[in-house]
Amino acid sequence: MTPEEVLKLAKENGVKIVDFKFSDLPGTWQHFSVPVHVLSEDLFTEGLPFDGSSVRGFQAINESDMLVIPDANTAFLDPFTAVPTLSLTCDIAHPGPAGSQKPYSRDPRYIAKKAEAYLRSTGIADTVFVGPEAEFYIFDNVRYASQDNIQYAEIDSEESQWNSRGKDGVRNLGHLMNVKGGYFPVAPNDTHQDLRTEMVLNLEALGITVEAHHHEVGAAGQCEIDYKFGPLLDTADKLMLFKYVIKNTAHKYGKSVTFMPKPVYGDNGSGMHTHQSLWKDEKPLFFDAEGYANLSKLARYYIGGILSHAPSILAIAAPSTNSYKRLVPGFEAPVNLVFSQGNRSAAVRIPRTESAKATRMEFRPPDPTANPYLLFSALLMAGLDGIRNEIDPSQYGYGPVDKDLYSMTPEELSEISSVPGSLDEALKALENDHAYLLEGGVFTPDLLEKYIELKREQADQVRLRPAPIEFSMYYDA
Ligand code: GLU
Ligand code: MG
Ligand code: MG
Repeated sequence: MTPEEVLKLAKENGVKIVDFKFSDLPGTWQHFSVPVHVLSEDLFTEGLPFDGSSVRGFQAINESDMLVIPDANTAFLDPFTAVPTLSLTCDIAHPGPAGSQKPYSRDPRYIAKKAEAYLRSTGIADTVFVGPEAEFYIFDNVRYASQDNIQYAEIDSEESQWNSRGKDGVRNLGHLMNVKGGYFPVAPNDTHQDLRTEMVLNLEALGITVEAHHHEVGAAGQCEIDYKFGPLLDTADKLMLFKYVIKNTAHKYGKSVTFMPKPVYGDNGSGMHTHQSLWKDEKPLFFDAEGYANLSKLARYYIGGILSHAPSILAIAAPSTNSYKRLVPGFEAPVNLVFSQGNRSAAVRIPRTESAKATRMEFRPPDPTANPYLLFSALLMAGLDGIRNEIDPSQYGYGPVDKDLYSMTPEELSEISSVPGSLDEALKALENDHAYLLEGGVFTPDLLEKYIELKREQADQVRLRPAPIEFSMYYDA
């Protein structure tokens, strides 16, 4: 869409408010609005001033005067506002002459743009296609939102099972699904069909092409809606919109959606497996009919790069303390740093396909608390590092492994490296291993330092607080 077309769209739809959105450093959408008379074609080059000082991850900047520069391609009419509202996703820049403002180095969207430009500059490929699968839980809003912050969900409590029914549900235990039993009986066991359908229709109306929607394994309302893969920046923009649509559709019905990786103890967590493939001149580069799982040498090196940098990538891919409660054996979440065809406990899975175009690798450790701009960029940078240094995963003990990793003996497993056990471990890994992210100036030391500081603060918040379970374990000790 051009700025002119955006103005036309606003006019034709009687838009009264224009909403500017951008991602903070952790990856949450922030916004502010202006009356529609502020909208002009010039705004798309001149930008609009705002105070960037209190935005998470941005605040260390000396000057708080920043600009949002809207991207006309991201325009949509917000279906969740009471008056017609046009939404625009923005870049962040320092004030300067129209068209040549300096991009803000901590703007996650800028990292994604640099990553795409860097890929083209290598000549290896011109496009990376990315397909994230963000899983989530739907809970009853009233009960969850109003609980004080030491409450947490336990699948084995009758109360949380009832939550999956919603507050209008009849307390009929007969239709409740068992732990890990959510994949995927029909209604009345699946109580979220209509809500997911409405989510899908809202997504499609906003230009996100959905592939499928279904209940997931987690019995207390875990769901998945997959949308079509696309280029890095576009897919990251869409993930921000995806979360917005999913959360707001649920909110309309008094429900809340959480993308936190492990909201329910004892059942599956929510991942955001990220599928990737490199393309050049519209030709796929990951396919070779002779290779293991139809993988080309280039694809193997890409995988080698990702597996060898995985501990540090996880600081970005699994960036919350809660992420490491998901990355444990027994819940279809990956724990082993190996690649494999079909094996869901491997960090890298190669989905079975005979099609060259569909040949891709799936990196399974990420979860939806990751900032998609940083995540997709970091994965690409690690993959390119693997290609540059010809890191064949087999030479480094990263597989392929086709056995069920969950059933391996401790001796067999001791040969295999595993994902970090905590956010602190992953942050340490990122501190020690990040040169591959700095290539071509894609990530900057300043951004990584700020990111690590922010995440350490979160880890400390958790580490310093008594957890609910500690009361039952130690209260009477
Ligand atoms: N929920 C699982 C995870 O935490 C993934 C299930 C699946 O393979 O889709 O990664
Ligand atoms: Mg899934
Ligand atoms: Mg998957």
